[in-house]
Amino acid sequence: MKLADIEAAAGLRSPIRHQLFIDGQFVDAANGETLATLNPHDNSTIAEVALAGREDVDRAVAAATRAFPKWARLAAADRGRILLKLADLIEANAEELARLESLDTGHPLKDSRALDVPRTAACFRYFGGMADKFQGETIPVEAGFLNYTLREPVGVVGQVVPWNFPLMFTSWKMAPALAAGNTVVMKPAEITPLTSLKIAELMAEAGMPAGVVNVVPGLGAVAGQHIAEHAGIAKVAFTGSTATGRRIVAASAGNLKKVQLELGGKGANIVFDDANLTAAINGSAWAIFHNQGQACIAGSRLMLHERIADEFLEKFAALAKSIRLGHPLDAATEMGPLTSALHRDRVLGYVGVAREQGGEIIAGGKAPAAAELARGCYVEPTIVRAKSFKDRVAQEEVFGPFVTVLTFKDDAEALAIANGTDYGLGSGLWTSNVQRAHRMARELHAGMVWINSYKRVNPGSPFGGVGQSGYGREMGFDAMREYTQVKSVWVNVDAQIPPWYSR
Ligand code: NAP
Ligand code: MG
Repeated sequence: MKLADIEAAAGLRSPIRHQLFIDGQFVDAANGETLATLNPHDNSTIAEVALAGREDVDRAVAAATRAFPKWARLAAADRGRILLKLADLIEANAEELARLESLDTGHPLKDSRALDVPRTAACFRYFGGMADKFQGETIPVEAGFLNYTLREPVGVVGQVVPWNFPLMFTSWKMAPALAAGNTVVMKPAEITPLTSLKIAELMAEAGMPAGVVNVVPGLGAVAGQHIAEHAGIAKVAFTGSTATGRRIVAASAGNLKKVQLELGGKGANIVFDDANLTAAINGSAWAIFHNQGQACIAGSRLMLHERIADEFLEKFAALAKSIRLGHPLDAATEMGPLTSALHRDRVLGYVGVAREQGGEIIAGGKAPAAAELARGCYVEPTIVRAKSFKDRVAQEEVFGPFVTVLTFKDDAEALAIANGTDYGLGSGLWTSNVQRAHRMARELHAGMVWINSYKRVNPGSPFGGVGQSGYGREMGFDAMREYTQVKSVWVNVDAQIPPWYSR
């Protein structure tokens, strides 16, 4: 199919952007290379997208370096104003962005409309408002001196974004960096570049000066690696797998760039026997099945108190089996395809891993039988009961609609199991006991804890992990700290300094 026909079939009104965005222009890759981005519903080609190589990253870094001094010195309120304008443009183009995200990633349109797009606008708006409110401090040092701090941008920032929430993560990465006065070279995942390129187009429309934002889709091992190594880049912020995170840290050593890592997780979602079971069942399904389970904070370890386990599982499995799988652009669809065939195979591979270690498949465990889904990357909502919390499916991030069920007999065992992984990103617990709730929140080895809820995010609330889930925080004031460096300025106001060497 021709691109114009694909756009029309997906209900898109504006042309799909498929070139690199460098120095305010959409341009081809220097060597002319492209890579097809696919529709995961049927693995058909949506568009051939320019594939950035090292030379293109160099061009983007040069543009960002040229743009930096002026952008950093612009009044903070004026930087904010552009981000606020962008948030309005995202809302004005909401349906377009939602459809484009669903087409490229497989997110159900219902989710793209209700979550991805509004959250993206909210993030740019929050940091647009933050730009002129984030400030330094005056410090009460010895008499005669004024000491104050400046929060200065770090410079050109490299951002490497994964394929699970390409639109939303573009805002999480770019908004605080830009509000703080940095310029950006961003690499979306090669399999989901379309909405980041659309954001670049809207940035230009919002009045973003050329070179401040550059978007360079390319291979991780080429463009991503070059960003991580680049001497002209002062900081790299990454979301993705722990293995790639390690590679980025190693590559950053050359110029000792700052690194921020938001890596994988194996979220413990703990249901105690005093929980509101209806709410817990519903919330636990959302925790793992939203976005086909492709979320670093997914509640992928469902931990049930042994007294309620059977009743819970019966209802939970019935709910999972009732989730409507279908075409992402059908507004009635509740679960779409995974984002790539490679990833679907990886997820289905874990069904075999579970069986080998004696796991019981309670629901799903295969691709759906429906003929209309046969060419896509679909996986049925899958529930696996593991024998031990040390089993691979209870330890490794599957990153799909695949939940591992474990049981516990008391609070101490719940905590030991929950903290028995190397990850520490999101976690949740369901209980009506206030003391237990807060005690657990303190004891859980995690960056985020949800009580009687799961997977809440807000641009004001810090987001990030501990342990193998990475370091640094996105969102809120913490994100502004991550994207600035502190300078301490000393002023002699009226101090009499005796000569150190008395002659
Ligand atoms: P990944 O390799 O970590 O990819 C994430 C991003 O890093 C992509 O933009 C990727 O580029 C880029 N990248 C890859 N190698 C790089 C390198 N050497 N230097 C710099 N950037 C590099 O993740 P994946 O292979 O797509 O997914 C595998 C697993 O990672 C998933 O199953 C899941 O467990 C985890 N994951 C976690 C998150 C999260 O939100 N925390 C997100 C995605 C994946 P290209 O893909 O374009 O080559
Ligand atoms: Mg795609």
